[in-house]
Amino acid sequence: MGETVIPLADLRYTAPVPAIPAQAIPATGLLADALGRPLRDLRISVTDRCNFRCSYCMPKDIFDRDYVFLPQTSLLSFEEITRLARIFVAHGVQKIRLTGGEPLLRKGLDTLITMLADLRTPDGNRLDITLTTNASVLARKATALQAAGLQRITVSLDGLDDAVFRRMNDVDFPVADVLAGIAAAHAAGLGPIKVNMVVKRGTNDQEIVPMARYFRQHFGGSVVLRFIEYMDVGASNGWRMHEVLPSAQVLQRLQDAFADTPLRPLDPTVAGETAERWGWADGSGEIGLISSVTQAFCRDCNRARLSTEGKLFLCLFATRGHDLRSLLRSGASDADITSALAGVWAGRDDRYSELRAAQPAAPADGARRVEMHYIGG
Ligand code: SF4
Repeated sequence: MGETVIPLADLRYTAPVPAIPAQAIPATGLLADALGRPLRDLRISVTDRCNFRCSYCMPKDIFDRDYVFLPQTSLLSFEEITRLARIFVAHGVQKIRLTGGEPLLRKGLDTLITMLADLRTPDGNRLDITLTTNASVLARKATALQAAGLQRITVSLDGLDDAVFRRMNDVDFPVADVLAGIAAAHAAGLGPIKVNMVVKRGTNDQEIVPMARYFRQHFGGSVVLRFIEYMDVGASNGWRMHEVLPSAQVLQRLQDAFADTPLRPLDPTVAGETAERWGWADGSGEIGLISSVTQAFCRDCNRARLSTEGKLFLCLFATRGHDLRSLLRSGASDADITSALAGVWAGRDDRYSELRAAQPAAPADGARRVEMHYIGG
């Protein structure tokens, strides 16, 4: 008999195994949570590792050489991810976002993308499959990702100035390689491309106008630049409210800098969209504002997050998950897992950002908020 490998569970986050309801709950595609929000968007973290050390996500002093990342045996296999994704899709998921850590560090990711691209919604439609990356290795992978079935891509880029960017990623990575990755994704037809900039007052807010100018002048204005308010995710980034630059001030800076072609509000493209859309008056593209701190958008949050080793988190600021991997590996049937997932989602009432101001700085029960590198942004 071969040696049994016991996968190490990440004990940093409690995650009870969801109960399988006595009464089966079949998938109808219309599952809603306790606040009436449907399940439409699944974010799947395929690795907890990253080659950057962005201070607002994986500060180097905590995620140092001694930090213990998850062993391979703990990670969900591509078959397990696809099996779970199929169940989420039956419950109503229409969009899958692959995240991390840095998802392009997971070996053979194209294979997973092809497996997910074969899935169909209950009414036979293709899924919207996208990915969030720091683009450090995108230049050489873009064509293969597109061929595997990836449709769109989001790139995290916190500044154009090389010195500022190297300080933000804290591994001295050059901005030119990220811009080359965006160009390769554009050439491969992975669009519309979105670029996410986390704005930290006093650190990179001077990059707001140069970034907007750059993406208006490149790629035919097809790249959508989104400015994200710095958030108190996880328990490691030392978040302080005074380092948040509210989106209203970001917008004002852009209006002042580009007064001849002001920004005008645009309608959301889909329900539950996190970004508020603004279009340039001359039609040279649009920007987005993601304001989780000053304009919470929990009321139509339809996002679920799956960690690298199969824990389901119902909110980016959650302190506990639901262990779906144990269900998968316990021999539970798809029907059982379908019912268990329905039970978990139906009980969801998370709205952390709406309640942030009323919340204590740290969870009362001493639990830790889950880290972003573990469940993706
Ligand atoms: S704080 Fe939680 S519930 Fe609110 S929008 Fe973010 S993930 Fe959704």
